Amino acid sequence: MVSLKLIHCRSGQCLVGRTGSCRHGLVDSNSVCTFVETIRNIASVKIKVGFGYDVHRLVEGNLLMIGGVEVPSTRGAEGHSDADVLVHAICDALLGAAGLRDIGFHFPDTNPGYKGISSLVLLHRVVELLAEHQWYISNIDCTVVLQFPKISPYIYDMQQHIAQAAGVAVTDVSVKATTTETLGFTGTGEGIAAYAVALISNA
Ligand SMILES: [Zn+2]
Repeated sequence: MVSLKLIHCRSGQCLVGRTGSCRHGLVDSNSVCTFVETIRNIASVKIKVGFGYDVHRLVEGNLLMIGGVEVPSTRGAEGHSDADVLVHAICDALLGAAGLRDIGFHFPDTNPGYKGISSLVLLHRVVELLAEHQWYISNIDCTVVLQFPKISPYIYDMQQHIAQAAGVAVTDVSVKATTTETLGFTGTGEGIAAYAVALISNA
């Protein structure tokens, strides 16, 4: 909260809100120092950052959904929904930023209603939940960790699907991909992981 004393000044440039006097000599009871008003408005804007992480096992014969795009692969992710690791990480980043728990809390895998559901539907519901609490997405940045197949040809489609479900511009969604140089469970093809950060604001 701001503790500046409001100064009345027609100049619009008054910088002396803290002193209670106006160096422009334009103080009267019918005008408002717009500089002080601007400071007050900026100070009322809150921004928060959230982080999300998800992992899914890869198995023969399953679809590999990443960012709402079906990536051609002999191995796909195992899970209750469509097992979209990237969208799950994004949901957790958004929920975390808003302090609204996590994706498992809102969409438990014990609920048969979520069996096979598109994770983009879940993302859309998360965004609606944030809006109910007056939180709006500023931007999303994420990284998919996968040894194979290469997903770079599908990155732009993923960004478009995510942006559409989240109600933001595609330029506010960044998707990156990396490998772990054949190390660990992602390196051997045993699993897929994703990390995401999201910035939200109340304005
Ligand atoms: Zn998941």
